Amino acid sequence: MTPIASAATALGMSRDTSDSDWRALRAAAFAVLERAYAPYSGFRVGAALKARDGREFAACNVENASYPASMCAERAAIAAAIAAGARDLGAIVIATDAAEPVPPCGICRQVLSELAPTIEVMSCTRGGRESRWTISSLLPHPFTPQSLDHS
Ligand code: ZN
Repeated sequence: MTPIASAATALGMSRDTSDSDWRALRAAAFAVLERAYAPYSGFRVGAALKARDGREFAACNVENASYPASMCAERAAIAAAIAAGARDLGAIVIATDAAEPVPPCGICRQVLSELAPTIEVMSCTRGGRESRWTISSLLPHPFTPQSLDHS
């Protein structure tokens, strides 16, 4: 058992994502990072996710001169999966040029929590550093559809 697998087990992850899946997603995330449109922040992000039906989706961040109109790579990848009819999402890899693994932002945590509550999240660096989380560890108290119930 690799140290990563041990950590995943300790965190209660389902471990339904194989090492080869993680490697493929990492490669896809770094490949799509090259297409990022990030002229304002200069912070390029690639995200690749795998649905449990086997399909993979990848997206990059797309910024805009109207800054709030910018879209994160993670949410763009989820939107692509949802648009393709993939609703059972098993794993997502986030790739950046940062020295340390970067977790998803708060908005992406919220979206992942609702649309992919059992997804495994990995962030990786070019230098080979990796961090893995569950969504519940990243966002332990999410706003949910039930939060809208005011009856
Ligand atoms: Zn985000």
